[in-house]
Amino acid sequence: MPHNLQVEVIGCGDAYDAQHTNASIRVTEAGYQLLVDCGPTVPARLFACRDNAETIDAIYLTHSHPDHCLGLTLLLNWMDSNGRKRPLTLIAQRQQWPVIEPLLNYACWPQSALGFALERHNSETITALGPWQLQTSTTRHGAPNRSLHLTSRCGHQLFYSGDGLLSAQGEQLAASSEWWLYHIDPAIRAQLSDKVAALPHLSLAQDGETFTLRESPSRAVD
Ligand SMILES: [Zn+2]
Repeated sequence: MPHNLQVEVIGCGDAYDAQHTNASIRVTEAGYQLLVDCGPTVPARLFACRDNAETIDAIYLTHSHPDHCLGLTLLLNWMDSNGRKRPLTLIAQRQQWPVIEPLLNYACWPQSALGFALERHNSETITALGPWQLQTSTTRHGAPNRSLHLTSRCGHQLFYSGDGLLSAQGEQLAASSEWWLYHIDPAIRAQLSDKVAALPHLSLAQDGETFTLRESPSRAVD
């Protein structure tokens, strides 16, 4: 069976974007599913996909600003209400767990625990997840943010910035990646769209878009 890497743009909007879902992607390879960021408008998009409560294996949080993590409570509550039993992996920055834990506790309130285990990993030190090798790097942002770089078994590389200005290491990781997903200010989207239209190998992500990176060196877009 080929090892295709699938990237689904759940949302490409910023915190208060009325037209787009909060920035988030879902990455799938070899049956392993990773959700990157989970702002408050993200769960509704996943529900619209008629997702099964067991399908997501892991959630990576670039940082703990509300538009990147406030959807966790509803998503985990939904998984629990729909009978999830499989453990869920959560990856976040070590110092941001105190901000995230109340969101997790509220997901099962008034019970004391979810009906499935949460396996926590720190994004500073994680190097492997499911079928991927992982690297993370800091950005300059109001809250510490860690970009995610993922190397797939089929050799493709994906970079997801999260918020903020990339570090030198982040720029290197982005440059080595075929796919680089960045957070766009809605005020400049139209202007940026015009500029990007002239560039053959670049496009602006749209909510709901799905890309498949195939195992062979040739790349296909669904
Ligand atoms: Zn932010």
